[in-house]
Amino acid sequence: MKISPKVRDFLCLTAHPEGCRKNVENQITYVKKHSEVKNGPKKVLVIGASTGYGLASRINAAFGCKAATVGVMFERQAAGKRTATAGWYNTAAFEHAAANEDLYAKTVNGDAFSREVKEKVIDLIKKDLGKVDAVIYSLAAPRRTAEDGTVYQSVLKTTGEDFTNKNLNLKDNTIGEKTIEAATEEEVEATVKVMGGEDWKAWIRALTDADAIEEDTVTFAYSYIGPELTYPIYFEGTIGAAKKHLHKTAGEINEEFKERGIRAYISVNKGLVTQASSAIPIVPLYMAVLYSIMKERGLHEGCIEQITRLFGEKAVFGQAETDGQGLIRLDDWELKPEVQAEVERRWEKINTKNVKEYADIEGYWEDFYQMFGFDMDGVDYEKDLDPSVNIPSIP
Ligand code: NAD
Repeated sequence: MKISPKVRDFLCLTAHPEGCRKNVENQITYVKKHSEVKNGPKKVLVIGASTGYGLASRINAAFGCKAATVGVMFERQAAGKRTATAGWYNTAAFEHAAANEDLYAKTVNGDAFSREVKEKVIDLIKKDLGKVDAVIYSLAAPRRTAEDGTVYQSVLKTTGEDFTNKNLNLKDNTIGEKTIEAATEEEVEATVKVMGGEDWKAWIRALTDADAIEEDTVTFAYSYIGPELTYPIYFEGTIGAAKKHLHKTAGEINEEFKERGIRAYISVNKGLVTQASSAIPIVPLYMAVLYSIMKERGLHEGCIEQITRLFGEKAVFGQAETDGQGLIRLDDWELKPEVQAEVERRWEKINTKNVKEYADIEGYWEDFYQMFGFDMDGVDYEKDLDPSVNIPSIP
């Protein structure tokens, strides 16, 4: 069948297998050309490995460090005429590319929060690799079922008082206003349960208890802070509360597993269009303005460029470059004062008439479609395809 995009608000319900493959191949090509990791890891677990920052991390580990990788993801395979999710196709493409270069790559598809998936992953590591020497935590999930069966739902709300600001209407690219409600205390707590650090630490503990983690392992999780403009919706919002918890967890992991030499970091990354971030109100308009300014100044990066810089220049596996609070700052270019001054100047003026002048709406949508394998150069979208694609390591 011919596969075309079916967009609903901030989601695309279809994905294109060949476009996703091309996207993964482009990222691999980038890493091979630009990677400069010294003393990289050799056996890497990536939790949230199929899209966005986690996929870019897995590609860097495999093709930059020549590491064996175990990936964990929560994706859906094709069924009848329904396509698989982009993360499924990405992972199929990744595993094939890894196999072509004799790189070990296996994937577990299931709920990373569950004990069952942790056990499955640990069994796989013990059987095939013995132990891992790096653990990258890149989950972005809407909900979590805890071990006692309680379901926590993360919400994207502000805290304190309701917050109103400009917003990009994704249906027609007009600029309107959006009011974001203040969360209740329970909602903040639930978001912290889902997106905070509890599960990251649970993974490190489970790996340690099972003796499936090397001494001196480096583990890191991804965070976002952003500029003051987005504080009410992000850093001072529910998701920010979760990120603060994640930051605190890095300290707890360092303390608790000190004797084993495990080092935990937070890498604060740049705001980018991914499946997780396009769901946040107000943020897509900020990103479209930011893209425009960063592209004009030659500072723009996508997930693969960011993570290549994390592994290389920021030396996450060596003498990691951190700020005064121990955070690795991949958002350094986004937060350059001159970039943010220009964001603020444009933000004041932007409206439906001038949106294309002040914001990179086309770039926003290009990234959005490409996440699902559409709009990729060199892919024939008229071709009839079988949407069903196998991931070699998943029976
Ligand atoms: P994403 O939506 O592209 O990726 C999420 C990954 O998590 C996918 O691999 C998905 O399969 C997996 N996943 C989701 N729920 C799961 C579950 N229950 N079990 C197993 N796997 C599951 O998101 P992303 O934007 O790459 O986000 C990754 C991390 O980076 C998040 O912590 C996010 O906050 C952070 N981050 C994102 C941005 C941004 O702008 N996108 C910026 C800075 C930091």
